[in-house]
Amino acid sequence: MANMDGKSLLSRKKSIPIPPPPPQSAATGYPCEYVVMNNLAPRGRSSCVPTATRDLWERLFNEGYKADVRINTDNGGIVYAHSNIIAVASPVLGGMLKQANRSNRWRSISTFGVPHDAVRVFIRFLYSSCYENEEMKEFVLHLLVLSHVYAVPHLKRECELKLELGLLTIDNVVDVFQLALLCDAPRLSLICHRKILKNFKTVSESEGWKAMKQSHPILEKELLESMIEEENSKKERIRKMNEKEVYLQLYDAMEALVHICRDGCRTIGPHDKDFKANQQPCRYTSCKGLELLVRHFAGCKLRAPGGCAHCKRMWQLLELHSRLCADPNSCRVPLCRNFRQRLAKQSKKDEIRWTILVEKILKTRGIGIAPCFRPL
Ligand SMILES: [Zn+2]
Ligand SMILES: [Zn+2]
Ligand SMILES: [Zn+2]
Repeated sequence: MANMDGKSLLSRKKSIPIPPPPPQSAATGYPCEYVVMNNLAPRGRSSCVPTATRDLWERLFNEGYKADVRINTDNGGIVYAHSNIIAVASPVLGGMLKQANRSNRWRSISTFGVPHDAVRVFIRFLYSSCYENEEMKEFVLHLLVLSHVYAVPHLKRECELKLELGLLTIDNVVDVFQLALLCDAPRLSLICHRKILKNFKTVSESEGWKAMKQSHPILEKELLESMIEEENSKKERIRKMNEKEVYLQLYDAMEALVHICRDGCRTIGPHDKDFKANQQPCRYTSCKGLELLVRHFAGCKLRAPGGCAHCKRMWQLLELHSRLCADPNSCRVPLCRNFRQRLAKQSKKDEIRWTILVEKILKTRGIGIAPCFRPL
């Protein structure tokens, strides 16, 4: 129970890592589903071994020929087995058998706290690596625990795979998560953790969650914390995306401004150029808005920097331009040089604010900055 609080899994995680690739079948190297799909096993049964071998081991388990072990289960149930087989399949069972009580040929061991049928499915798997899909569905959590406790890694991988491929649901995800932590199944616990966060509202109203809240309040607290962390990082991602969009729009406006003042576009342009004759479709998205803004600026009576909101915007764009402009001496944008000359008189605070803005715009734009603007 030492690691039930999930500290090792949760506390060092800022963002949820992607789980490693799914485990392969121990016997064939193929995922077990592959073998089932290739009809090596009867319908509804999963197996990783060829039919003849499997049938031999199935018979040995079912008929119990020369069995010498009685495994006592809940409610007085008994599963019969062969000591040499189960000891080889599970070192833990091997250790238990060495110390087991012996009467005549029989040795007795006990596995309590797990349904009798789950123990039977477990022991059968030790013989033939076979199970019925229905039984796996019903006992997957018990089999996960048994395979961990008795150190049977290929069954453990099979349980993890089955859960991952469909047996893991919103109803059982909290239970599976706790078991995955308890049974040292890191890939499964990550998958559960992601499922919990993805379906947090429904999961946090499930019976499993309520039970965990009672039995492992620290784990609940950590899950809540990681949920908050996840939401914050989602908000941060959206904020960054919006910010990027604003900087890209500003850069586009800067290019459009130079383009209007140098080439002319639609209805406005340099007075010494016949730009209306040669109208190409414009590639700047900001051009139309800028055209209206420049027209307004030219005609507005309140054209002071602190006056009308449109003019204020225009002043800001002009100032930003002058800070990006690579060659104010040959630039056609109005006031470009004037702004440059005023730079020296600007307060330190304003200076820093503008420098940061320019850097962010250029950085967001990355490669492909027009030569008329300041290189990085
Ligand atoms: Zn244009
Ligand atoms: Zn105005
Ligand atoms: Zn300029």
